[in-house]
Amino acid sequence: MRRAPVVAAATLLVLGSCGGSGGTTRSGADPSARSSAATTSLGAGHVVTMPGTTPTTTTTRTTPTTTTPTTTTTPSSAPITTTPSAATTGGSLGPAGPTGRRFVIGRSVQGRPIEAIERGSPGGTVVLVIGVIHGDEPAGGAVTDTLERRTLPQGIDLWLVPSMNPDGQAAHRRTNADLVDLNRNFPRRWAPLDRPGEPEYAGPSAASEPETKAVVALISLVRPSLVVWYHQDLNRIAPAVGRAGAVRRAYAALTGLPVLPVTGGTYTGTASSWAQAEVRGSVSFIVELGPTLSAEEADRHAAAVLAVAGA
Ligand SMILES: [Zn+2]
Repeated sequence: MRRAPVVAAATLLVLGSCGGSGGTTRSGADPSARSSAATTSLGAGHVVTMPGTTPTTTTTRTTPTTTTPTTTTTPSSAPITTTPSAATTGGSLGPAGPTGRRFVIGRSVQGRPIEAIERGSPGGTVVLVIGVIHGDEPAGGAVTDTLERRTLPQGIDLWLVPSMNPDGQAAHRRTNADLVDLNRNFPRRWAPLDRPGEPEYAGPSAASEPETKAVVALISLVRPSLVVWYHQDLNRIAPAVGRAGAVRRAYAALTGLPVLPVTGGTYTGTASSWAQAEVRGSVSFIVELGPTLSAEEADRHAAAVLAVAGA
C-alpha cells in the first residue's frame, strides 16, 4: 500500500461560512459568504484551501503554527490550536478526544459542518471511510461510529467522514440542499445529468457543491490508499477487475454481501471513481448495504474495512 505523508494535525482553521447553522439555501445566500470559507490546515506543511476560494487543493510548506514540517505528533498528544477567528466562528472542534482528532473539512450548503476524524497511526496506510453521501441512505453512519471506537491495527491512518451530506440527511433526502446528487457531482467524467428535483441531478458543473469540494480537498490532501463509500439498499458490491476486484471480493466475503453488478443509473461524476483515479494505485469502492444494518453487521463491516486495508 502507498504511504501518505505524515499529516500532523497541529492546527485547525475553519473560517466563516454562511453564518448560520441552517436554513440558508444557495439561492438565498450571498455567494460571497460561502466564498470566504475556508482555509483548513491539517498541520505541519499541509494547508488546503477549502470550498469557495479556489477549486484546487494546494499543499504548501507554509504553516501558521510553530510546528515544524518534520514534527510528528500522535493523536493523543497533538496540540490543536485555533485562531480567534476560527474560535469565534465555531469552526473548530477542539483538542483530540479519546476517539481521535476531529476536523471540520467544510460546510454544507445550509452551513452544517462536515466533519472528519483521524485515528490511528499518522504516516501509516491511509484509509478513508465515507459513512453517508446520499442523505436517505444513512446506515453507513453506524459503520463509521463503530470505527470511531474500535481498536485499530498498527499502521493504519484511519480517516472517517461520518456524513458528507448533513443537509440531505437532516431532510431524509438523497441530494444536498441544492438538490444535487453528490455522487454525480465529482470532477471525473462529470456531465450534465437530470434537473433539480430528479434523483441524479449532477449540478451546474463539476464539484459545484461545497460538500463535494470538501471531500475532494480532503482526499487530495491525505491521499488514501483505500476509500469505502456506503450506500443503501441494493445489498451488494459491484465487481471490478484487478486488485480493485480482489479487494471488493475480500470485503464481500467478510461481510456476506454478494458481488453483483449495479445497473440502472447513469454513472458520470461519481465519487468513488474520482477518488480511485485521483490517487494512483488506490482502491475506492461502494458498499451497497441492505435496508437496515444491525449493530453486529456494522461491526462486521468495520472489521472488513480494516481487514482489506492491508490487502
Ligand atoms: Zn446511494
